[in-house]
Amino acid sequence: MEPQFDVGIIGGGPAGSTTASYLARAGLKVALFESDNFPREHVGESLVPATTPVLVDIDAFDKVEAAGFPKKFGAAWTSADSGPSDKMGFTGLDHDFRAAEIMFNERTQSGVHKDYTFHVDRGQFDLLLLKHAEEQGAKVHQGVRVNRVNFDGAFPVLETSVAGQRAKVPVKMVVDASGRRTQLGSQLKVKEKDPVFNQYAIHTWFDNFDRKALAVDQSQSDFIFIHFLPVIDTWVWQIPITDTITSVGVVTQKERLKASKDDLEKFFWDTLGSRPELHKALKESEQVRPLKTEGDYSYALTKVCGDNFLMVGDAARFVDPIFSSGVSVALNSARIASADIIAAHRAGDYSKKRFDTYESMLRRGVNNWYEFISIYYRLNILFTAFVQDPRYRIDVLKMLQGDVYDDEEPKALAAMREIVKAVEEDPNHLWHPFLGSLKAPSAKAMF
Ligand SMILES: Cc1cc2nc3c(=O)[nH]c(=O)nc-3n(C[C@H](O)[C@H](O)[C@H](O)COP(=O)(O)OP(=O)(O)OC[C@H]3O[C@@H](n4cnc5c(N)ncnc54)[C@H](O)[C@@H]3O)c2cc1C
Repeated sequence: MEPQFDVGIIGGGPAGSTTASYLARAGLKVALFESDNFPREHVGESLVPATTPVLVDIDAFDKVEAAGFPKKFGAAWTSADSGPSDKMGFTGLDHDFRAAEIMFNERTQSGVHKDYTFHVDRGQFDLLLLKHAEEQGAKVHQGVRVNRVNFDGAFPVLETSVAGQRAKVPVKMVVDASGRRTQLGSQLKVKEKDPVFNQYAIHTWFDNFDRKALAVDQSQSDFIFIHFLPVIDTWVWQIPITDTITSVGVVTQKERLKASKDDLEKFFWDTLGSRPELHKALKESEQVRPLKTEGDYSYALTKVCGDNFLMVGDAARFVDPIFSSGVSVALNSARIASADIIAAHRAGDYSKKRFDTYESMLRRGVNNWYEFISIYYRLNILFTAFVQDPRYRIDVLKMLQGDVYDDEEPKALAAMREIVKAVEEDPNHLWHPFLGSLKAPSAKAMF
């Protein structure tokens, strides 16, 4: 079978549609298959500024701006009043542990021309990017599932189905952008569950929730808020979706939910009850979507590329969403992968070695996120300490902006790791009681 397309893409989320835009703009013949019909709901609503250069690159930034999504100028963290309140034995770490915030305009970021990014209704955002890919020349097929990729012949063949009809589509190369369904990773049996993280999220939208209720600085009420709960390894997101709609999600360890006998509604409200002021403000607003759950979402793939294929976005790796990294990884993995694919196409060689740059940059970027997240879960008061310490603030902000692909390891990570070690080794350390229960191996050991 002769290839009908240069590249076949599985999935039309941000990773798939962005890859399609890059490749179509470079003149490649691209077909994208999306099993759902858009718009469809999706979790992952708060962006970081590292998405901006990619949106600008594919000429989609102005469309996103024109769509009127709420602007996100920064992020804020709050916690219950039970935290420690002095320096806790570290010189220089003199700050209030109960609240912290950052603004993106505090650090210039290459390729980012605005001091804000966006919070998005993913139904609308993903539709916008998918339509954009089509306008760039990609053939987009909605409602078409890719069931399997047959690698037996000279070229990969996508085995698709739509409304009971089956069709085979031979292509020169396959990009798996199927998100957490990890279509190719599952088929090739290269997906590995994270050894430590087993988070579970329960989320919904509220209308007329008072976003100022927990804001220390009232002018920052349209930031993303992460509210720490006085329940170990558990936190809540607060993300503006429109002027009046707010997305709220509880993230916890799966075993906690099991312990409450899987009663979602009760678990959601009981957990929120540990921050009474948050619970009260939510009860005074109107829940406008049913509760939705997301589970089993931390994993790595031992292989992210091979002869004639690669994976992008969540199909390549998923780390905990505490720092809103997912969509930026989707867009940046699409950017980096597309450069390798275009070069491979021009050389007429789609073998694995053509995707080496992609593989190493993706692993470096996501490992930096993973390390940051692991340290955060191990000792989260250290995070608020570093955000407020002038020696580390800009380095931490760099990670929070999603600027993680170029450095071997951001400086703040090494400093944080040293402090965690000191606290772990000294049971009398003032911070010792604040150690979390999740102890991840170094990200490097994961691959
Ligand atoms: C609880 C939680 C909170 C999060 N919060 C944030 C956040 O605040 N900010 C952030 O940036 N990220 C967040 N994320 C992560 C974010 O949701 C993802 O990283 C992002 O959606 C990845 O985009 P993607 O294109 O790789 O995958 P997706 O957006 O999942 O798109 C994959 C697409 O592929 C399609 N598909 C799947 N299988 C097939 C198939 N076989 N054939 C055809 N089509 C197929 C699916 O229908 C889907 O549309 C969060 C994730 C979770 C779980």
